[in-house]
Parts: sequence; structure tokens; C-alpha cells
Amino acid sequence: MGRPVDIAHSLGRNLLVITWDDEQRSELPIPYLRGWCPCAGCQGHGVEIRFQPVGDDISATGLYEMGSYALGIRFSDGHDSGIFSWTWLRQLAPESAPGGLKQGSFRGGKFV
Ligand SMILES: [Zn+2]
Repeated sequence: MGRPVDIAHSLGRNLLVITWDDEQRSELPIPYLRGWCPCAGCQGHGVEIRFQPVGDDISATGLYEMGSYALGIRFSDGHDSGIFSWTWLRQLAPESAPGGLKQGSFRGGKFV
């Protein structure tokens, strides 16, 4: 699984641009990431992680690296408990199979 070599926050476009160590580039809209927050508060304790739409006016007010394996994002609604591992971000990336923005659910690490 890839690791980012660069993470750029575009305020104007409200997205993260992640460049991975295999040179793939992923553009992840902030509201999309908020919808995919994997924390227990957003997802409960089931086996599925579901996309939870929150509206398109969500932005990011802080980004911080968590250890060497994940990104923390503070969203404009105050929510900051999600741990966005590199693996998770890569799974969500529009370039990762199945292609395009994913808005259903992940079960056992697979998009369904
Ligand atoms: Zn959450």
C-alpha cells in the first residue's frame, strides 16, 4: 500500500491533493472525506463503513500527521476524531478500483 510523499490542501477547491510514492495523484474533496470519516462516532461499531453525506459546505480547518501512518483532519463542523490512515485514503481515492467517487459502503475493506 502506498504512502504519501506530498499532501496539499487546496483552500480554493476545497480538496486535498495527495501525491503517493508510486506517483499516483489523488484529489479528495473535503466533504467527501468528512462523509467517509471512519470514527466510531460517525460509523458505530458495525462491520461496514458507510458514506454519511454532510453537505458540500464542509471545509478543513486543520490537518495533522498522526504517527507515520495516518492523517488527522479537523473539519469546519468541529469534528476531528477520524483517523484517516494512508490505506484508507488510498481506498477512497477516485483512482483506486472501483474508480470514481465512492458513496456506498465498505465491508471487510472492499467497496460494495
Ligand atoms: Zn467521525
